[in-house]
Amino acid sequence: MSLTFDLHRRPDPASDERRADIHADPGFGVHFTDHMVTAIWTAEGGWGHGAVRAYGPIQVMPSAAVLHYAQEIFEGLKAYRHEDGSVWSFRPEANAERMQRSARRLALPELSTEHFLGSLRALLEVDEPWVPPAGTGETSLYLRPFMYASEAFLGVRPAKEVTYCVIASPAGPYFAGGLKPVTLWLSEHYARAGAGGTGAAKCGGNYASSLAGQLEGIEHGCDQAVFLDSSTQTYIEELGGMNLFFVTRDNRLVTPELTGSILEGVTRSSILQLAKELGLDPEERRIPIEEWKDGVASGEIREIFACGTAAVVTPVGELRWEGGTAASTAGQDGGEVTHAIRRALLDIQYGRVADTHGWLTRLT
Ligand SMILES: *Cc1c(COP(=O)(O)O)cnc(C)c1O
Repeated sequence: MSLTFDLHRRPDPASDERRADIHADPGFGVHFTDHMVTAIWTAEGGWGHGAVRAYGPIQVMPSAAVLHYAQEIFEGLKAYRHEDGSVWSFRPEANAERMQRSARRLALPELSTEHFLGSLRALLEVDEPWVPPAGTGETSLYLRPFMYASEAFLGVRPAKEVTYCVIASPAGPYFAGGLKPVTLWLSEHYARAGAGGTGAAKCGGNYASSLAGQLEGIEHGCDQAVFLDSSTQTYIEELGGMNLFFVTRDNRLVTPELTGSILEGVTRSSILQLAKELGLDPEERRIPIEEWKDGVASGEIREIFACGTAAVVTPVGELRWEGGTAASTAGQDGGEVTHAIRRALLDIQYGRVADTHGWLTRLT
């Protein structure tokens, strides 16, 4: 069945001046474009009612299942403007496929890759001027597709009515103060995901369960928390919303293997593919937390970074836990390998180098 998105253009879009003001200082996730996409799935009729309409409040019944049982998933990707004015996205098919996997895990209906891409194009067709101009560095339009159980019913079962939306938000560099290494808190009391749980799905519940660990970290002066495998509390998994990489003295690029409780980042998988071109040997395996602590002390680990669509690549400075710290020796700029990887990704995304991997998909 084909899902189309009927355009209902709002009569009062933001003025060019207002949009330019927002582009001058977009922040992250605070300003939204004029329109949004919505579509509704029902058990009887499948996907339908696709629309592009004014960005604004959505109505849900207080009994809507999502508000009680958290049947919800989301995605995050960006639209980048190239020098010639065209607008591109980075591996959006991978986001579409991940959303399909997340949907299966949360017992939500799948949206085909074609309809996922169609929804992004439908929104960009009308909100294209919201994609920040080329040449401003690292600005983009962050796209947030999401899907939730909108059926008004308190019984516990997969909802028979589900709503899909896409909203979009102009984004500046994730870290406004420039690229500074982040300090991470080792969460030993709280896990974000467990074996057989939803850790590999991009669902809001994983973020809710990461917040207590995150808060504990902030109380200890850290920026974010690192989570361990919840079964043995031994192996490094990831941050609340970013994957982790370690660069060794002998140029291996090591990242925790996918165990079912780690989210498979598009950035993570792209970096693994880029590694060879950058003279690094990629390695996916279980990494004991002791290897981190010992590795920075011995110099075996040269650099550490976290990665994800929003912040791209972020150097990690210090690891803290109750009773100790382990500081990276990479220094205040985070290290040359971290920078080279970050640069390589941005160059592809902004069309400054040839897209030899076929990772870019044109949106407008
Ligand atoms: C979204 C997300 C990431 C990063 O994924 P990208 O596709 O690279 O943006 C990493 N970890 C978690 C828990 C996430 O939700």
